[in-house]
Amino acid sequence: MPSGRVLAICNQKGGVGKTTTAVNLAAALVERGRRVLLVDVDPQSNASSGLGLTLGPSDPSIYDVIVLGQPINDILQRPPHMDGLDVAPATLSLAGAELELADLARREYRLRYALEGLHGYDYILLDSPPSLALLTINCLVAAHAMLIPLQCEYYALEGLSLLTHTHHLVRQELNPSLTIAGIVMTLFDSRTLLSAQVVTEVRQRFPAEVFSTLIPRTVRLSEAPSHGLPVTLYDPDGKGAQAYRALAAELLARDALVAA
Ligand code: ATP
Ligand code: MG
Repeated sequence: MPSGRVLAICNQKGGVGKTTTAVNLAAALVERGRRVLLVDVDPQSNASSGLGLTLGPSDPSIYDVIVLGQPINDILQRPPHMDGLDVAPATLSLAGAELELADLARREYRLRYALEGLHGYDYILLDSPPSLALLTINCLVAAHAMLIPLQCEYYALEGLSLLTHTHHLVRQELNPSLTIAGIVMTLFDSRTLLSAQVVTEVRQRFPAEVFSTLIPRTVRLSEAPSHGLPVTLYDPDGKGAQAYRALAAELLARDALVAA
């Protein structure tokens, strides 16, 4: 494994805030002086475009790394205005990877091998797609820990049991040391009783895992990607930026305990 801490940001459910968390947590960690690599492992490539990187389908991307075995250093990009953050971008070509991977040897280990030689990063964040297929499994096999964004909505806990089951299977079969870095409650709406109820319920079930930081639902967080910026630059003093800074602080404190 590479020298930095590798976190797979995953949830098979779509639209729960995986990419928003990957981009803004990365930016908040960079603000605190950490060196971060964000790897976009989703054919939708929202993390890449949300940071202002626009690529054509045949530009070098994580597809070349995972499927063709090209060194990851060859495809890294530095988003504008973001010293300390590197991005391994994705393009639509990654959409074919699930099928192509199926025929390759050690198909679950491709990303893990690709990250192996990297050094100089404090954190490597993997933004995974909304499925539990091979690209997500590659993320879970490459990671030290899972970071799970969970939307404050009625079915949150049901989705979580499938994910904890997957965690169990991956530990058993592929990556015995995979841990859970934490569960982050996203799209929290303080005006609804439901949001508060879901947080209470998830905290009861997973008291050690849930971060105390709640990520609020704010328009600024959804606008920032269209400007190619993380919220910490697009709306530095807003609630969204503050929340992701608080999450970064909490994560750093937890990881300091892990390392001790
Ligand atoms: P997918 O599963 O498709 O990859 P995802 O889990 O990565 O989705 P995001 O893309 O981060 O989810 O978020 C889904 C949508 O919700 C996006 O339009 C995003 O801008 C918006 N969104 C995410 N978090 C928030 C928030 N806290 N407040 C407001 N909008 C948000
Ligand atoms: Mg996403």
